[in-house]
Amino acid sequence: MAKKKAAKKTAAKKTAAKKTTAKKFVYFFGGGKADGDRTMRDTLGGKGANLAEMTNAGLPVPPGFTISTDACRLYYEKGTKTAPNVDAEMLAHLKTLEKVAKKSFGSKTDPLLVSVRSGAKFSMPGMMDTILNLGLNDTTVEALKAKTGNGRFAYDSYRRFIQMFGNVVLEIPKDVFEHELEAVKKAKGVKEDPQLDEAALREVVDRYKQAVRKHAKQDFPQDPIEQLRGSRDAVFRSWQNPRAKEYRRIYEIPDNIGTAVNVQSMVFGNTGDRSGTGVGFTRNPATGAKEFYGEFLINAQGEDVVAGIRTPRQIAELEQVMPKAYKQLRTITTRLEKHYKDIQDFEFTIQDEELFMLQTRSGKRTGYAAVVIATDLVSEKLVTPKEAVLMVEPEALTQLLAPIFDPKEWKKMPVATKGLPASPGAASGQVVFTADHAVEWARDGKKVMLVRKETVPDDIHGMYVAQGILTATGGMTSHAAVVGRQMGKPSVVGAGALQIDERARTVQVGGQTLKEGDWLSFDGLTGEVKTGQVATKPSEILQVVNGEMKEHQSDIFSRFNLLLSWADKHRRLAIRANADQPDQAEIAYGFGARGIGLCRTEHMFFGEGRIPIVQEMILADNEKDRRAALAKLLPLQRGDFYGVFKAMHGSPVTIRTIDPPLHEFLPKREDLMVDVAKLETAGKKGAELDEKKRLLHRVEQLHEFNPMLGHRGVRLGITYPEITEMQSRAIIEAACQLTKEGIKCVPEIMIPLVGDVRELRDQKAVVVRIADEVMKEQGVKVKYLVGTMIEVPRGAITANEIAAEAEFFSFGTNDLTQLTYGFSRDDIGKFLGSYQDRRILERDPFASLDTTGVGQLVEMGTKRGRATKPDLKVGICGEHGGDPSSIHFFDKVGLDYVSCSPYRVPVARLAAAQSALKATAFS
Ligand code: PEP
Ligand code: MG
Repeated sequence: MAKKKAAKKTAAKKTAAKKTTAKKFVYFFGGGKADGDRTMRDTLGGKGANLAEMTNAGLPVPPGFTISTDACRLYYEKGTKTAPNVDAEMLAHLKTLEKVAKKSFGSKTDPLLVSVRSGAKFSMPGMMDTILNLGLNDTTVEALKAKTGNGRFAYDSYRRFIQMFGNVVLEIPKDVFEHELEAVKKAKGVKEDPQLDEAALREVVDRYKQAVRKHAKQDFPQDPIEQLRGSRDAVFRSWQNPRAKEYRRIYEIPDNIGTAVNVQSMVFGNTGDRSGTGVGFTRNPATGAKEFYGEFLINAQGEDVVAGIRTPRQIAELEQVMPKAYKQLRTITTRLEKHYKDIQDFEFTIQDEELFMLQTRSGKRTGYAAVVIATDLVSEKLVTPKEAVLMVEPEALTQLLAPIFDPKEWKKMPVATKGLPASPGAASGQVVFTADHAVEWARDGKKVMLVRKETVPDDIHGMYVAQGILTATGGMTSHAAVVGRQMGKPSVVGAGALQIDERARTVQVGGQTLKEGDWLSFDGLTGEVKTGQVATKPSEILQVVNGEMKEHQSDIFSRFNLLLSWADKHRRLAIRANADQPDQAEIAYGFGARGIGLCRTEHMFFGEGRIPIVQEMILADNEKDRRAALAKLLPLQRGDFYGVFKAMHGSPVTIRTIDPPLHEFLPKREDLMVDVAKLETAGKKGAELDEKKRLLHRVEQLHEFNPMLGHRGVRLGITYPEITEMQSRAIIEAACQLTKEGIKCVPEIMIPLVGDVRELRDQKAVVVRIADEVMKEQGVKVKYLVGTMIEVPRGAITANEIAAEAEFFSFGTNDLTQLTYGFSRDDIGKFLGSYQDRRILERDPFASLDTTGVGQLVEMGTKRGRATKPDLKVGICGEHGGDPSSIHFFDKVGLDYVSCSPYRVPVARLAAAQSALKATAFS
């Protein structure tokens, strides 16, 4: 008995202890203080964290509470059920809210009404659900009417609530409600919603309630607590709706982090002409210019502005309409920008001339604006250069390199119409009217322009593949504008003159009717839309790099350069480029590459007039003939190498000996068979037929079942050492020539596809012999290195042995991925989509390194190689060299450099700097 009691006591103690340390799921904000702050985005989501921060800063934020992302994850763990302790905590916070707001749920005199909004750690605009005016029922609507003296407003709010709740929580299709609303409008003979009076809106409410009964087989819930529970769970569920999932896939947001739910006391922008609502930015998010920027609507609720249904007014006009609220808004937003040290994107509501802040967050911006803002904030001394480097997404820089129209060509064409310039960039493509068609056409390799009245979150897949997005309605903060900007996709919105007939698939513009498939172009920086196709030209940045424009003539180039010069101070990784031609090497150098990490010599074989010589070399069936053909290639290759060395101004140049299977240079077997058959049936005999037959015979001899695993790479050099001889000679001769001219060059000769040290030893002997020979002939000494690619798993595993012969390693992560996963790099497209849909793979492993698998071989190969040769130079030259997250990995495992395509060099410079800065921040 005593034992039992004691046990009970300890259990009770344990529960008490548990209680005090129980996990917190709900965080309050209001009355000047909040449980959370801006650092708690993981728990509170971005919106919740910023609401807490603004509340703590004493800004006018309607009170409320945030149900954490932990609660969302728990909801899914419990099989889509909210845990009782979370529910109890929510109800306790509701009581506090009632106290702070001095209103109560269901009150017959002054009812508390709330909004329920999603808010994940990363902003996902419009992807999840929102419910406004919650707490209204048949009783409270009358109380709201009595309190505001505005029956129209009260019933309009009620019908909006039923509509949102019906759709989001009870999953009744939107058009059910649209249909009822239209019916009442028709019966009353009115066109616009605001023309409906109280009596009409009461009728709408009745019809909506009936619709709920019919479609959801239940009455519209009158109990506010039941409404709240239903809405909370629906927002949790909306984390898994298809468009939210698609958005996360595109932006690589993890699936398992969940969303928070913000329950906040309602303020109304639709109580009359002394109320309004708006959104804005502290700077222009399209160009980065320092100007107060945004839009508002009088007598409207928040969703009206972003939905793009009514075209809003410029925020500057608010100064005339409500000067006091405008002034306060300017003061608050300037303060917010200083506090967050970044451009802010804010939402506000004015209720009877009283201003409330509903949201603030770092503003999404175009790549162009990102660079302008980061450099401006440094000039304004709001951030340091180091902080500015961390503010710009590396990928955003590619937008600055995107083509623009040739101004002359563009001017020649008449302007068909003009819309709002929502996201800069030149776009030209064939018109499509639906997101699905955009995807289908793009899959066929067509360039499409998505033309819509307005876009909705469900259009995201079509927007993603389009060259540009054009809409007829909506403002600069409409869905199309916000999403277009974020994607870096040229977008023009609110081109009101467009008459789109989605059913007939036509659009009338500038007196012409365009059908699906007709060409259309626009400039996202000016908003000008023209019919027809217009050629594009290089961006200003590229023009400066090419020497077609002077640096001081281009403001954006100067900023771009400044930002990257700050980045360069912090990065540890060197950046090289993959380039095969002198002109590519020059561009790469202009973008800041200091070295070539991969020169694919076989690409040079495709140069003008060279293929016949290469074919001669391949067709030769004896060494003598092969050497004769190689002798013809020698001066050509030497010329190429000379040009590439020179373009690099003394930085190292890695030249790889021949890599792909030889049949790649010959005509296709099937084509030759057809040619031979044709000549034979036409009875044509003679040289042409003999030549074709000879070619066919050799192609058949060279045919392989698995060319990627066949006679390629080092294997070619071993069977035909004279090819390696010719290439080594061309490299060293070019280097000798430059040395004689007093120009520095650093050749690095690289042997591909080595899996066994003996392969490298064999080829190295050839290279060294030829190099000695050439230097003796020329009477010049040049310093050169011989190294290898590590791109066969065995190469990584035996890297300690290989390093004994190699002076450097370069990871070929394209082949290494192919051979580690066993996915053909040319055929993965057939199944990658299914893999991604099923989340077997998150990302394309050929674009972003599989750090858990392939990455381990990179790390192991580097460690083993350096165990043998501590100062072994190690780089990477696969496509991953230009991918920011892969670059972070390469930095972490201690590689010396990454090499990527010339146009990715700026991205790599910035990513490498961010990786180094983040590593120091966390160490
Ligand atoms: C690689 O395999 O990563 C590589 C750079 O070589 P290639 O793409 O030419 O096979
Ligand atoms: Mg390779």
